[in-house]
Amino acid sequence: MRNKMRLLFCLLIAGVAACSPKKVMVEDAAENYDQQLSAQLTQSVLWYQLSAERKIICQSIYAHATEMMTTNAERYMVQGRPMAVILDIDETVLDNSPYEGFLIKNGLTFTPESWREWVSQANAKLIPGAAGFITRATDLGLEVFYVSNRGYESLSATMSNLQLYDLPFIDPDHILLKTDMSDKTERREQIKESHTVVFSVGDQFGDFMSEGYMKYFGAEVEDQGIELPDSLKNHFALLPNPMYGEFAKAIMPDSNTKDKALILKIRKQALNGIN
Ligand SMILES: [Mg+2]
Repeated sequence: MRNKMRLLFCLLIAGVAACSPKKVMVEDAAENYDQQLSAQLTQSVLWYQLSAERKIICQSIYAHATEMMTTNAERYMVQGRPMAVILDIDETVLDNSPYEGFLIKNGLTFTPESWREWVSQANAKLIPGAAGFITRATDLGLEVFYVSNRGYESLSATMSNLQLYDLPFIDPDHILLKTDMSDKTERREQIKESHTVVFSVGDQFGDFMSEGYMKYFGAEVEDQGIELPDSLKNHFALLPNPMYGEFAKAIMPDSNTKDKALILKIRKQALNGIN
C-alpha cells in the first residue's frame, strides 16, 4: 500500500513538472522568436510587393542585362560554339514574395515543408523585365538555362509555373535544380562544357560565382578598394532581394546557425546606428 502511495506521489510530481510554467515559458519564447523573425520581414516584403522603385529597378537591371547580353553574344559569335544565358529562378524569374507574406501573417519562419507546399501551387508571378530578357535571348539564338536551388521533387511544379508565361527551354535539360549541393559551380561548369555562357542573372552573388562574396562585398571592401573583376561587371546582373539571402547569412558568425535568439541578437548588433 505504501509503495502504491509512493508511486502515485511520484506520478503526480512528474505530471506537475511536465506542465510547469518554466516549460510553457520556453515554448512561448520559441514561438516569440519565430514571430519576431518573421515580423522583421514585413517592410522588406511590402517594398518588394508594392513599391514602384522595386519594379523600376528590376526593369532597369533587365534592360541593362539585355544590352550586355546582346553585346557579348556578338563578341562571342566568332567562337562558333553554342551560346547560352543562365538565369536563377527564385527572385530572378519568379516572385515568391507571397510565400514570405504567408510567413509574416502566420508568425512563422522558413521551413522546407512550407516552401515545397508554396512551390507546388505553381502560380508565382514573373519578375518585371524577366520575360523581355529571355525573349531577346532566344531571338539572338541563345539557349536559356535555369539554374536553381529548388529540389528535384519540385521539377514538375517549377516547369508548370514557368510554362504559364510561355517561357522557352522549359525542359529537364535546361532546368538544373539542386541535388546534394547548393553551390551552383558544378552545374555552371556542366553548361560551359558545351556552351559559351554570354550572360547570367541572379539575385545572389552565388548565382554567378561561389567564392568572393565577402571579398567583393564584405564590410571592409570599401576601405581596401578592391575592384570588381571585369567578368563580374560584364557578364552578370544582380536583382534586388531584401527578403533573404547571402546578406543575411554573411553577418552571422556561423552562417548555418539555427539559433533564432542568436540571429535576432546579431542582427541588432550588426546595425550601424547612432547612439
Ligand atoms: Mg534566387
